Amino acid sequence: MRNNSEIKKSIDLGKYREIGLKLTPQRLAILEYLDGNTSHPSAEDIYRVVKRRFPTMSFATVYNTLEILRKRGLILELIIDPERKRYDPNIEPHHHIICIKCKRIVDVYMDFEVKIPDAHSHGFKVLGNHIEFYGLCNECRTERPPLRGKKDN
Ligand code: ZN
Ligand code: MN
Repeated sequence: MRNNSEIKKSIDLGKYREIGLKLTPQRLAILEYLDGNTSHPSAEDIYRVVKRRFPTMSFATVYNTLEILRKRGLILELIIDPERKRYDPNIEPHHHIICIKCKRIVDVYMDFEVKIPDAHSHGFKVLGNHIEFYGLCNECRTERPPLRGKKDN
């Protein structure tokens, strides 16, 4: 089939079929882009890439697909970047660190024993946590500051 031959990667579509997601060629391209993607893309990032293959595709198609996947628990929405929502197809428990300069988000795989004392838990039974770290990535950290001209002083 022509549509299938356009799919470069073979991805497991079972979980998407299970939730009744209509698998249009555009949606397949979105799912293919997300599969195994660890860059935590925004809807805009995904749109930019998939639009190259489907120039008539609208941003709403991307956003609506992401919303369906998020509501069904197949992707995570990250709000660590104050500028835009980011998405993570990896729904296994893990934490994140964001570079405050280039906004790169990477995964942190480590269990943190963070205990909330009973006096502060408001009666909640704590089931887990997601910790967001922020800092400067290696590239941004080693970037040289711009040379200072005389005008600066
Ligand atoms: Zn950075
Ligand atoms: Mn992640």
